[in-house]
Amino acid sequence: MTYDVRETPSLQIISRPSLDVDAFEKYLAGEGLAWARTPGATEAEELVELAGRLCYMSFGERQSPRTNAQYIWNLLQQGHESVLEHVEWTFLLTGVSRSFSHQFARHRVGFALSQLSQQYTDPNDAPTVIPELVRASKTLTQIWERAIIEAKKAYEVIQRELQASIPEPDDRVAKRERRRAIRSAARSVLPEATETRIVFTANARAIRHFLTLRGSIAGDLEMRLVSAELLAIVEGEAPALFADFEIVQLDGEPLVKRIHLDERE
Ligand SMILES: Cc1cc2nc3c(=O)[nH]c(=O)nc-3n(C[C@H](O)[C@H](O)[C@H](O)COP(=O)(O)OP(=O)(O)OC[C@H]3O[C@@H](n4cnc5c(N)ncnc54)[C@H](O)[C@@H]3O)c2cc1C
Repeated sequence: MTYDVRETPSLQIISRPSLDVDAFEKYLAGEGLAWARTPGATEAEELVELAGRLCYMSFGERQSPRTNAQYIWNLLQQGHESVLEHVEWTFLLTGVSRSFSHQFARHRVGFALSQLSQQYTDPNDAPTVIPELVRASKTLTQIWERAIIEAKKAYEVIQRELQASIPEPDDRVAKRERRRAIRSAARSVLPEATETRIVFTANARAIRHFLTLRGSIAGDLEMRLVSAELLAIVEGEAPALFADFEIVQLDGEPLVKRIHLDERE
């Protein structure tokens, strides 16, 4: 029996905020105000600044000489983070295990997840994600491969036996539910290493919370790799929103570290 193996997660951004500056400046002009914008600030950064400034109407003469990055840094220092919720990105995450996704899905606030179904696709066809610690040892890799193959064989046997013992109905919905029931029973033997795919949308505040909680857990390499990929992407999209995070190396692998606000300057 052959099967695909994934070694590292893959994360891509597939959607980002689009700011209609003209519409906002038109509104400001109607109020007799203007916004001195920072050249080079990204749309995501400007959206946060705009929302923050609207709270105090700090435009025109009331606008301080702070740059966009300085303004956002001040918001972060004050804990005025609800304005970060306006910035949302959507990502495609593949090459992660079901054990990873159990942990990932615990982040309830500011995250929306759409995950590959094991009832509408055949989970036995899915690749498996080999942990780095196992991959580093030839002996452990062989043991791991044997266990995966046994699980996949068991899946096939259970599926075949149930297909033989449960009569196929004529009705389309009943057919679908029969297939669902059989896959649900058979998948119970599949390993947590089974690969899953997730499209998720998260706002900048929720991503900061996720990176703070999950990015630096030394013993959770899969989580560290996803966190580092995520930080690298969002830093490119809106550096000012993640100025207090950095990627460091630990034992040759990345780890996301949150710099204490006071330590940065
Ligand atoms: C090192 C580590 C070990 C863990 N071990 C386990 C474990 O053994 N078992 C386990 O079940 N989970 C475990 N977890 C998961 C953890 O308990 C959280 O469920 C997960 O990290 C999501 O964090 P969160 O609730 O802060 O995030 P979110 O769900 O995104 O919530 C964000 C924030 O919103 C607020 N919030 C959300 N919901 C509520 C609410 N109902 N009431 C009040 N405030 C709310 C809180 O301030 C929360 O921090 C572990 C997490 C870590 C980082």
